[in-house]
Parts: sequence; structure tokens; C-alpha cells
Amino acid sequence: MEKYDIAIIGGGILGTTISYWLSTLYDIKVCVIEKENTVAKHTSSRNTGVVHAPFYLDPKKRKVSAISSLISHDLWEILAKKKNLPWSEVGTIEVAIKEPQHKTLEKYLKWGAENGIPEGQLELLDSKELTKKEPNLKAYSGLFCKRDVSTDYGIFTKELQKESEKNGTKFLFNHHVKDVEENSEVKLTFSDNSTLVSKFIINCSGGNSLDIAKKFGLALQYNDLHFRGEYWVADKKYADLVKTNVYSVARFSEFPFLDPHWIKRADGRTEIGPNAVPVMTPETYEGYTGELTQAVSKIREIFSGNVMKLFTNRSFLKLISKEFLSSVSKSAMVYRVQQFIPSIRPEYFSEHGTAGIRTPIITPKGTFMSDILELNGKNSFHIINYNSPGATGAPAYSAFIVRQLQEKGILDYIQKPKESFWKFEDIVIEN
Ligand SMILES: Cc1cc2nc3c(=O)[nH]c(=O)nc-3n(C[C@H](O)[C@H](O)[C@H](O)COP(=O)(O)OP(=O)(O)OC[C@H]3O[C@@H](n4cnc5c(N)ncnc54)[C@H](O)[C@@H]3O)c2cc1C
Repeated sequence: MEKYDIAIIGGGILGTTISYWLSTLYDIKVCVIEKENTVAKHTSSRNTGVVHAPFYLDPKKRKVSAISSLISHDLWEILAKKKNLPWSEVGTIEVAIKEPQHKTLEKYLKWGAENGIPEGQLELLDSKELTKKEPNLKAYSGLFCKRDVSTDYGIFTKELQKESEKNGTKFLFNHHVKDVEENSEVKLTFSDNSTLVSKFIINCSGGNSLDIAKKFGLALQYNDLHFRGEYWVADKKYADLVKTNVYSVARFSEFPFLDPHWIKRADGRTEIGPNAVPVMTPETYEGYTGELTQAVSKIREIFSGNVMKLFTNRSFLKLISKEFLSSVSKSAMVYRVQQFIPSIRPEYFSEHGTAGIRTPIITPKGTFMSDILELNGKNSFHIINYNSPGATGAPAYSAFIVRQLQEKGILDYIQKPKESFWKFEDIVIEN
């Protein structure tokens, strides 16, 4: 039976970047366990592709995500330039559609400075300045962020996989973790009944990370929900109606992922989306239920405990019904974007984009957890609720995780630093 020092469950952008740091720094036996036949098959390829500047993240409540995003911008740029990967400096305008939302933009300007965004990269624009910059954009005001970039995180993850493999990491594809047994070491059993033993496990399994943590007896008080984000691609003729990304101030700050945007992709396409339609599994990219057994267990979960409390929240229900409508009807989604780009029409969008699914965690109070949830097992570490801007922040956040494990004495291996395009010692996040 193969035995590892560290086994990482999940070959998304997070698991892959953690494997990169571990294999770069140590003489250590690391593997990444992935149920699919390649890395980044799920959320890490199915997202909006924006390298976000953290102006919209509360510096107190989301400090780690904010600092990770800030630092990672430069790390991704180094990788993109070195390997000639997609890096399109399109910028983002966050708009206040109506006057009352303007104070949120003023708050974002302050948060941006507190989160370390360099001076001159954020600029408040009034309605006239907005229209001068983007003639098809109509709003009360906007916050222009020059720093935002469009990229392809699936390509980044594949590049990091190659580097990690060069350092000795094994990627075990088509290995679906079904069961775990945690004693002095951890035994994993896969869906074909084969097994693997590792001294330590890092759980980075995205939409399944809560379920995996529960197998370790952790996080039993939490639940999760899966929301599919769908996109529509603008026909080429209309792709440059607006040349920057446009986001709008969230109607309800506690549900920030429920407002569609105008997105400039790194490959030149323009899309609108994502919405957030509840689905039963983290991989239900079409239809609403997914695999039957998973759907049944999700329905059971919904009708007991935390999720039910969330469903008694009126604003949430109101928003969700609109999200559902925008899934069934293209016009409904277009209508929402027309609030700031009035000239667009449903017939300008004839093709679906690639849908992605986010899995927020519901607390015992029936609210969404606002930041990443990290949990320690006896011989395991779990990263849950790793949602947007998780792809942006992955290189710095994963270095931060490795530093935590060092401090806990878990990485008591011979240090053998290998050549790296990123410098581990420069990445400092004080928690
Ligand atoms: C619609 C949408 C838009 C987004 N837009 C942005 C954006 O513009 N910018 C940004 O920074 N972030 C964005 N995000 C967030 C970002 O994409 C995620 O935070 C990030 O990709 C999460 O990476 P991950 O590695 O944790 O998860 P994943 O990419 O989901 O990887 C987890 C992996 O674990 C594997 N796995 C799961 N269960 C098992 C098992 N039992 N056994 C073996 N393997 C298993 C899965 O197959 C998967 O490959 C967006 C997310 C969504 C959904």
C-alpha cells in the first residue's frame, strides 16, 4: 500500500497550490488525490476568471481573504508573464445603480485603502464621468478599479500542477475518496475499494469539503447549499458595448453573490452572469437535481436544521425566486444587467457560458458564513467555504496554510528549497 507524508484531497486551484509550496520547500512525499482525470475540472475552471482587488472585502471580517487577494495579484502576474498565460488588464467598475448605493462605494474606497490597494488604482466616478468612460453604462456613480484582471484559472492550475510534479508531487487522478479512518495515520478508501495511507491529510475538496470534514467527525453543526451560477455569452457584435467588467453593488450585503455582472473574459468573449440558482449537488451543471441519492440526502438536510432557518429569511426567499427566474428565462437575467447597461437586449446573447457552482456554508444560526472555515482534526486539516475570491487568493492563502502547519510542528521534514518563481518568505499574512 502506497504511503505518503501528506495527502491533499482535491486537485482544484487550492489543493494544487498547496502541493506546489510543500513540494518546493521540503523533501517530502506529497500526493494530490483527485476524483476526475485532470486538475481544475470543477469550480477552479468554472468561474468568472477575475483577479479581484479586495476593495469590496471588509478588512476586519475578511482580512485573510483580502490580504491573500492583494498579495496574490502580483504572484499570478509573475506566473502569467513567465509562462505566457492569459492576463488581460481590463479593470472593473462597481456601479451604484441608485443614489442610496453610493455610500457603499465610498465605503469600498476606504476598505480598498485599508486592504492595501495602492493609491491611484481606485477612483470614484460620478454619473457623467462614468458615461464619458463607458458611453453605454448608466448609473448614479461608479468605483473604477484599474487593478482587476481577467484570466483563466484552469490554465493557471494546470501550469502549477506541472511545476508541482517536477518537484516530486504525485497527482492521483480518478481516485474518489469515499471513506476515511483517522488514527495515528489516516487511511483513505476510494470508490473502487483501493486504499492509501498518509501521515496527514489536507482537505481541499471544494463543494465536497464539508462532507469530507464530516467523515472526520468535524463540522457536524454546519450545513451547505449549492448555487449554480449561469452565464450568457454576448454575440461578437455586442461584446464591446462596454470595455470593462461591470459589477453592481449587492442589493443585500449578506447575499453578495446574487447579482449578475458584465464580464470581459481573457479570451475576448463578453458574458453576463452568474446568477445563483439552488441545485442539489456541487456538480449539477444542468437541470436541478443531479444524482438521485445525493439529491435525496440534500433534501433531507434542507428540511432539518440550519438550512430551514435560512429559508425562513424573507429577503433570501425573494432574491432566490428572482435567481430562479433568471435561470429559466434569459430575458430575466438580461433585465437585471439592463439596470446599468440599458441598451442590451436578450437577442444579443445566443449562447450559454460555462456554469459553475459555489457552496456556501450555513451556520447553526441559519446565516451564510462570511469567510473561510479552517478546522483541525487529529491528523488532518480542512479548508471549507473557500469561495470567491478564492481563485485570486490561492497562491498567498496556500502559503499561509503551509506556514500554519509549520508552526503546529506538522511539517517536521528536511527543508530542501527548490527553484521557485514565487518567494515563500515574502508572503506574510498576520492573522
Ligand atoms: C460562479 C463562480 C464564479 C467565481 N468567480 C471567481 C472569480 O472571478 N475570481 C475568484 O477569485 N474566484 C471566483 N470564484 C471562486 C473560485 O472559483 C473558488 O474559490 C476556487 O476555484 C475554489 O477552488 P478549490 O480548489 O477550493 O475547489 P475546486 O476547484 O472545486 O476543487 C476541488 C476538487 O476536489 C475534488 N474532489 C471533491 N470531492 C472529492 C473526493 N471525494 N475525492 C477526490 N476528489 C474530490 C473535485 O473533483 C475538485 O476538482 C467563483 C466561483 C464560482 C462558483
